Amino acid sequence: MAKYKITQDRDGCISCGACASACPDNWEMADDGKSKPKKTDISEEEFECNNKAAAGCPVNIIHIKNTETGEDII
Ligand code: SF4
Repeated sequence: MAKYKITQDRDGCISCGACASACPDNWEMADDGKSKPKKTDISEEEFECNNKAAAGCPVNIIHIKNTETGEDII
């Protein structure tokens, strides 16, 4: 069962590719040149990779929420 939820303010993506480099398991560059997550509901095991992607985004548009506690992680 998913424990974390990813949101991305895609309008603000500057197409730098950092998230896809940091976490290729879940981030890819789409046809429009911006990145997108392959899935937005992720498990504990998938958290670290996605947290690196979020932390490395230069415009801070990737966010992760703990869906069990409601805490905004990043
Ligand atoms: S790191 Fe941020 S700005 Fe760069 S491609 Fe990913 S979402 Fe877009």
